[in-house]
Amino acid sequence: MVSVFAPVFRLSRPGISSMIQLSARVHRVPQSRLATFAIALPLYRVFDYAVDGADELKPGARYRVPFANGARIGILLEPVESSSLDPSRIKAVLEKLDDGPVIDAHMLELSRWLAEYYLQPLGEVVFQCLPGYLRGARAHQPTRVKRYFLVDPDTERIDALEKRSPRQFELCRALLQNPAGLTAAGLKQVNPNWHGVVRALMERQLVRWDWLQADTPELPRRTDRPTPSTEQAGILNELESRMEGFAVHLLDGITGSGKTEIYLRLIEQKLALGRQVIYLVPEIGLTNQLVERVERRFGACFVTSHSGLTELQRYRAWDRFRRGEVSILLGTRSSLFSQADRLGLIIIDEEHDHSYRQEDGVRYHARDVAIKRAQMLDIPILLGSATPSLESINNCARDTYYRYCLDQRPTRFPPPAMQLVDTGDSKLTFGISARIFAAIDIHLERHGQVLLYLNRRGFAPVVMCHECAWQALCPQCDARLTLHQSVQSLQCHHCGYCSGVPRCCPQCGHDEVRHYGIGTEQLEHGLAARYPQFPVLRIDRDAAGSREALRSRFEQLQSGDPCILIGTQMIAKGHDYPAITLSVILDADQALFSASYRASERLAQTLFQVSGRAGRGDREGESLVQTRFPSHPLLQALMRDDYRGIAERLLQERRDLGFPPFARVVMFRADALELDLALQKLEQIKTLLQAAERFTGISCIGPMPALMTRRIGRYRAQLCLLSADYQALRAVLHDAMPQIQELPSGSRVNWTIDVDAHDL
Ligand code: ADP
Ligand code: ZN
Ligand code: ZN
Repeated sequence: MVSVFAPVFRLSRPGISSMIQLSARVHRVPQSRLATFAIALPLYRVFDYAVDGADELKPGARYRVPFANGARIGILLEPVESSSLDPSRIKAVLEKLDDGPVIDAHMLELSRWLAEYYLQPLGEVVFQCLPGYLRGARAHQPTRVKRYFLVDPDTERIDALEKRSPRQFELCRALLQNPAGLTAAGLKQVNPNWHGVVRALMERQLVRWDWLQADTPELPRRTDRPTPSTEQAGILNELESRMEGFAVHLLDGITGSGKTEIYLRLIEQKLALGRQVIYLVPEIGLTNQLVERVERRFGACFVTSHSGLTELQRYRAWDRFRRGEVSILLGTRSSLFSQADRLGLIIIDEEHDHSYRQEDGVRYHARDVAIKRAQMLDIPILLGSATPSLESINNCARDTYYRYCLDQRPTRFPPPAMQLVDTGDSKLTFGISARIFAAIDIHLERHGQVLLYLNRRGFAPVVMCHECAWQALCPQCDARLTLHQSVQSLQCHHCGYCSGVPRCCPQCGHDEVRHYGIGTEQLEHGLAARYPQFPVLRIDRDAAGSREALRSRFEQLQSGDPCILIGTQMIAKGHDYPAITLSVILDADQALFSASYRASERLAQTLFQVSGRAGRGDREGESLVQTRFPSHPLLQALMRDDYRGIAERLLQERRDLGFPPFARVVMFRADALELDLALQKLEQIKTLLQAAERFTGISCIGPMPALMTRRIGRYRAQLCLLSADYQALRAVLHDAMPQIQELPSGSRVNWTIDVDAHDL
């Protein structure tokens, strides 16, 4: 949200941290020393343990500590003089797991800020800063790699090999030229099948291996990169003069305007100064295309981290970056918590993207936490987007961010203007109107690639009996089941519930059950039958099962041959496929009547992002939006105006309504097996909040059932606080949170708090 600035500068020390240190410390324990520990529990408190007097107390180190009847992992937060607990009740730690801290002082400070600002339990926050691999008791992995050497650089024995075994000779020659030894990667360059050859050489006792510290890769010397356009050069100039010290920079550039090119240039400069860079992208942004681009530029000097990797792989990326072995970390949301001694820049691409918000477990917004981190480290942070969030645009208007606009594509054509296709009463064929088919025909004929955006996976979203109106509903959620025909099942997209497809109506026995509506799977079937001569590629969560499958589809796009691409929001962002000439948005209408106050912003972002995938190469693009409501004001505005103009209008609407970013939202949520229990809990919370001394100027909406009330068998309710006076809101929370946390919890109701929640 607007957030970080206001709170950052004003959050005074006696903030929520005083709640975390439960109460005054009184008893002294002289023999061994005391320290507070964070434990990964949803509790708003830390724990005191005694540590053997001889040990140095290092904040950020992991210990095994006794807890209830078992043991837990605790992270030492700080040594303390005394504890509020009776000395006889203070237990000693069981075992020290790390010699040094696994979490550095800066990351501990950031955790404390996050816990305080987002009102999340410190223990959970601290643990989530660690890679999953280290959240238990596992030790660091050795950082060594095997290196192979000549046992004896005796050239005679080597020369003797030349005739008999030329491949062994060749490897020995390479080792002779590299007295420091070669790693597997080095040997592979000499001979891709080096394993057998080295084994033979070891048997002859010509070669041996040893563990050595891993290399720090070197930057490639020569790279081919485009010369910046005049527009890019101007922005680079300005940015370069502001690359020291903290500031937030917003690169607001239309799709395909060369933002990534600017990121890469800035990274180059930071690396030349010996600094490290964190480069965050939305989950799906991390396809081969970007990774290859970064690799071409920076060789092996970077690591990636995303949810497609194993825990161990993510740990290794984290560890190599932390030890400074690599200078760039290219990753998704949680990569933000990677530690580095020489961090010099944070980049957040597609800063408006929803995936930067973590919606379960610890709730935070990665963009906002990143801004705080940059501020703490006094380094610049660069946000980039073709469709910046209203929060960021508002921060530019308030002069808290620098803004740089890129209005041209360095390639030949500007992004296509969107055109509305009114479906009116016309007959649709698997959801597509004749006008759209005509456009698809033309673009394929001209060897263009066609992109169809439909944000609904599966075959059909509604399955019902037209005799008795029975509908296939999820037994655990207030949601319909979607038909997935390829796997012959009905699936709930909220909880993963899955069942077979009934042959006759389970309610009245009628022998036909019908499906309605169109999902991406059906679109794929229909288009494949209609265009048998062209490949039809579907990219959604079902089709993208494996990263490999996804990769092969993207490779096909890269080839530039004509094809049809169908996708959900996974294709809306970040891709640069120059052969796409037509982009079609099939289901804008859903969002036009959404209850969320953010729906218009999101729809505008999606439409500009999707239409901006077309016409990036040397052929002009076309963009069509199919709708039944062509006179809807938002769609009309999209035809006339660019994103910036629309964002200004949406911002004005928010101002008039008193919604974020002109107000702050804090949401309490509760869930239980009965709706009443959830509502009661929120009623108690509301009473405590309203009893707070400074409760003025705050609207309390609820408690009321959540939009989708039942999910995975639990009933959900919400209580929303909305206020234009952030200080008042903060003060009330500060007063009431300790008591809210003390409410008898019981296992029957879960509750959470979401600061800067995105929905009302
Ligand atoms: P964005 O990140 O804004 O979507 P990119 O940096 O991916 O834009 O650039 C879009 C396309 O234009 C890419 O294919 C890129 O290689 C190319 N490009 C970027 N800058 C230049 C330039 N200065 N000269 C030529 N091509 C460029
Ligand atoms: Zn029926
Ligand atoms: Zn469900």
